[in-house]
Amino acid sequence: MSRVVLSIRNLEVNYYTLRGIVNAVDNLSLDIYEGETIAIVGESGSGKTTLARAILRILPSNASIDKGSILFRINGSKEIDLARATEKELEKIRGDMITMIFQEPSVALSPVHKIIVQITDHLEKKGIDRGKLREQAIDLMKRLRMPNPEAVLDMYPHELSGGMKQRVVIASALITRPKIIIADEPTTALDVTVQAQILRLLIELKRDLKSTVIFITHNLAIAAEIADRIAVMYAGQLVEVADKYTLFESPQHPYTKGLLKSIPKPHVDEEIEPIPGEPPSLVNPPKGCRFHPRCPIADFVCMKERPRLERKSSGSLVACHRVD
Ligand code: ATP
Ligand code: MG
Repeated sequence: MSRVVLSIRNLEVNYYTLRGIVNAVDNLSLDIYEGETIAIVGESGSGKTTLARAILRILPSNASIDKGSILFRINGSKEIDLARATEKELEKIRGDMITMIFQEPSVALSPVHKIIVQITDHLEKKGIDRGKLREQAIDLMKRLRMPNPEAVLDMYPHELSGGMKQRVVIASALITRPKIIIADEPTTALDVTVQAQILRLLIELKRDLKSTVIFITHNLAIAAEIADRIAVMYAGQLVEVADKYTLFESPQHPYTKGLLKSIPKPHVDEEIEPIPGEPPSLVNPPKGCRFHPRCPIADFVCMKERPRLERKSSGSLVACHRVD
């Protein structure tokens, strides 16, 4: 078993709004292992982006980490709690040891800088030779199958297609050889064939760099294709964590089961059944298990007590009173 590189414990993140306090991440604990690709899946609004931003401490100003810790292992013996780290400590980690790839490449790229600057800016500040950086950038772009990488480096974002821009964003996230890459729906703005191709390249490069990838998506099919493990979020909480084969072959949590039934399978003549009801508001979420109002097997205890994420006989971590 490889080592834990990121250990999230009892994390609680809230947004303070005029409508009330939005509890976007609730008592979330998760260990992430060196070198793995873990997918965080969940419906829109389940707290995936909030979790990602909390790790890097790039939350909006109305958000606050109110409980818990995020221990990041910098090297063999050195650890830092990102939830409590100072801005100065975070500056050394962000964009260097931990990088993030966002959904919308146009937002991540500055319109007034050439591509070469956007990819190498962070390293240039560290005093690495420009010629070397250019070589590294070209090499990375070639491996991302960028057409005409040399010419592209001297262009501006508006001269590139969506797929090319996303390759630039990925190159700038990888050039520092980060320990952790957080990718938040990195290809949803692209068409399906380009998406699949870019994701495969990302995983190939990540293997060479020995980086860990936290991959956020609402698409279980994509998670199945690229991840080693899958963590399922519902309404700000983790409900199930398992390696992807176990998750698909024997889902345990009623919500995970519902999610799997709601995706169409090729060549299988099975009815698609959406999960009845809607995800709850996170301002006043249901007591006990947040899924109980929609759960087909909920019991009295589910309305009162919050289930803890525990290892069940299937080997998966599951937060459900009714499993086992
Ligand atoms: P999606 O799949 O749509 O990207 P998500 O799982 O990433 O969704 P988050 O963006 O983390 O979800 O949102 C979690 C909850 O926090 C939602 O209820 C959302 O409305 C709320 N939220 C997100 N950003 C803010 C904000 N800046 N202010 C107030 N509430 C917010
Ligand atoms: Mg999101």
